[in-house]
Amino acid sequence: MNDEGVTVALTGNLLLDSLSERLHTNILSVGKQVQLPLRTMLHEQGQMPQYAYFLTSGIASLVVTMPEGGTAEVALIGREGLVGVMHILGPTPLPAQCFVQLEAGAIRVRLEDLRTKFQESAELRKAVLEFVQQQTVTTGQIAACNKLHDAESRLARWLLMTRDRADGDTMHITQEFLADMLGTRRTTVTLVAGSLQRRGLIEYRRGKVRILSRETLEHAACDCYRVTKDALEKLYK
Ligand SMILES: [Zn+2]
Repeated sequence: MNDEGVTVALTGNLLLDSLSERLHTNILSVGKQVQLPLRTMLHEQGQMPQYAYFLTSGIASLVVTMPEGGTAEVALIGREGLVGVMHILGPTPLPAQCFVQLEAGAIRVRLEDLRTKFQESAELRKAVLEFVQQQTVTTGQIAACNKLHDAESRLARWLLMTRDRADGDTMHITQEFLADMLGTRRTTVTLVAGSLQRRGLIEYRRGKVRILSRETLEHAACDCYRVTKDALEKLYK
């Protein structure tokens, strides 16, 4: 129920569900509910996408790939956000691709429709810009993290950020994928994941990671986890 006592059908997307009933309904009227299997490409690097996605479950990763072949994740978006949000703001495409990292559900909206609503509605502008601020904080922090922090604390930080958006403590993740996300070598991932496992923080076998001790994993993560978590928690109060 909202403040007027009217029942609003919540979607599960925190940004969308934070809006007034009128705006919520208005956006849903031009949206389509979709399922997004693992690895679905939501937007290509350097291209303007056709759609934006309010995720209702799952996780999407924003990943930069360099011309020489190295990759690193610069942001991840779950139910708190809107995939394609930066493309609403202006004409420059992101130098990052975005794909589904954990199978997701979403409300898909044509980017043009959403841009029109963004221009018309002060309420939507406020919600979108607050999310953009959180994304900017996260992206900047992860960029510095990828350069300055060691692989073990980065892996711990990444596992916690992913866990905060997933439904359980077990996640299906290959070492190759982890190496791409962290911008490091697969052999390095093997070493640091082994170290976290020996200390009883995670269990890692056959492409499955299970977090055994969240509290200790937080101690193993760099401070970037706290910075990005604080920014996340300031949304939708
Ligand atoms: Zn860090």
